[in-house]
Amino acid sequence: MAEITSAGSTGKIEINSQASKLTYAARTDVGLVREHNEDSLVAYPPLFAVCDGMGGHEAGEVASRIAVETLVKEAPSTADGTGLEHAIIAANHAVIDGARTGEGRPGMGTTCTSLIIEGNRLVIGHVGDSRAYLLRDGELIQLTQDHSLVADLVRQGRITREESRVHPQRSVITRALGSDPNMLPDIYEFALRPGDRLLINSDGLSSMITDASITTILSGFDDVDECADELVKAALQAGGHDNVTVIVIDLPDDLPISPEADEGGTAAMPTAGEASAATPDITVSPTAGKDATDKTAKQPKRRKASVIAFVVALVAIIAAATGGTYAYARHVAFLTTDDSGYVTVYQGFPDDIAGVSLRWYVKTTDIKAQELPQPVQERLTQGIKVGSLDDADSVLTDYREQIAEQQVAQNPATSTVTTSTTSSAASTVSEDSARTAQTTSEQNA
Ligand code: MN
Repeated sequence: MAEITSAGSTGKIEINSQASKLTYAARTDVGLVREHNEDSLVAYPPLFAVCDGMGGHEAGEVASRIAVETLVKEAPSTADGTGLEHAIIAANHAVIDGARTGEGRPGMGTTCTSLIIEGNRLVIGHVGDSRAYLLRDGELIQLTQDHSLVADLVRQGRITREESRVHPQRSVITRALGSDPNMLPDIYEFALRPGDRLLINSDGLSSMITDASITTILSGFDDVDECADELVKAALQAGGHDNVTVIVIDLPDDLPISPEADEGGTAAMPTAGEASAATPDITVSPTAGKDATDKTAKQPKRRKASVIAFVVALVAIIAAATGGTYAYARHVAFLTTDDSGYVTVYQGFPDDIAGVSLRWYVKTTDIKAQELPQPVQERLTQGIKVGSLDDADSVLTDYREQIAEQQVAQNPATSTVTTSTTSSAASTVSEDSARTAQTTSEQNA
C-alpha cells in the first residue's frame, strides 16, 4: 500500500485501505487541463495530509513532495497540536531550503492541510486553500479557513461564498509553505463522534464543485473508495481545471470516547469563521489539547503570533491566478516612478489588495519619466500594470526607443544614440541589472 504520494507527472494515484479502525480512501488526479500533478498527499494513519504545490513544473510538485516527506518524518503519532505545528514549521523550512539548494525552484510553495486522528480527537494543522471538511448527520462543515484573497473578501462581506468559488483571483493565496521562515500554521482541535466522515481536498475539488455537491456525494456513498472516486469524477466533469486530490476518512461506529472529550466546549478559534459558527458543539481549540490552565495561558500568545504571521505572509508570499492557473503575484509587475523621477519596476500590484500591500521593489532604471510623453508620465504615477517582468522589460525597451527617437528628432546632428531597436529582453535586463546594483549600493552606502 502506498502511503505517501507525490503523483508527479504520472497524474493519478489511488490508495485504498482498511486500517485497524479508520477506513479511508485517497485519490489524486492531474485533471483535464494541467500537464503535471503538483499535489501530494499522505495517507499514513493516524496522519493524513494534502499539499497543493505551486510554482510550475519541477517546482510545485517538488514543494508538495518535500512537505509531505517532512510531515511524515516529523509529525507526532498522537493528536498533539504543538507537535503537528512543529512538523509543519519544519516542512516550511524544508521547502525554503529546497528552493535555496536547487531542489525545485525559487518561488515554489505549497499548501498544507494535515490532520492526526487519535481516538475521538482530531487535530488539524492548516496553511493555504486546501480544505478539511466534516460530514456529520448529513451536514457538511468546513473545518479549516482558507488563507486566500477570496476568503478574506467573503469574511469582509464583499463577495459571497459562491462567488468566491469562481472569482478570477480565487487562487491568490495569502499563506503557504516555502516563503516566509516565520510562517505559522493554524492549529485546530475537534472532538469527533462515531460515524463522522472527514474529507481533505485540494482546491481542484472545492473550486470545481459546490459544497452542496460535495455534501451529496459524501452522503450518497457508504463506501469510502466509491465516494473518493465520485468526488474526483465530479471535479473532472465540472471541467477538471486543476489537479484534484481527495482523502475520505470514516470514523468507526464504535469510536471510543475519551474522558477528555468536551462536547460542550466553546473555546475560541484563532480567527472567527465558518467552523465556529457552524459547529457550536465541537470543541475547537487553537492550542494542543493539554490542561485547561495551559490552554488559557497559551491562547493569547498564539493568537498574536498568528496575526503577525498572517500579515508577514500576506506581504511575503503570494499567488495570483489567471484563468485558473497559479502564478505567483511575484510574476506580475508594474512600472512607476521613484522620488527622483526615474522609471522603477516592482513585482506585484500597484494597489493594495484587501488592504494589504503586495509589491516588491525590483529595480530602478536609467529612464527619466519626464522624457516620456505626458500621458505616460501620468499613467506611471498610478502604476502601469504588466503581466510579467519580461513584459516590463519590453515596455522599458519601448520607452528607450521613444526617447531615442525624440532625441534624434530634436537634435539630428548628434544622432549617435544607438538604442538598438532590436534590443532583446536579455540585454535590457543586464543593462538594468547594472543600474539596480548601483542603486542598491547607493542605498546601502
Ligand atoms: Mn490546486
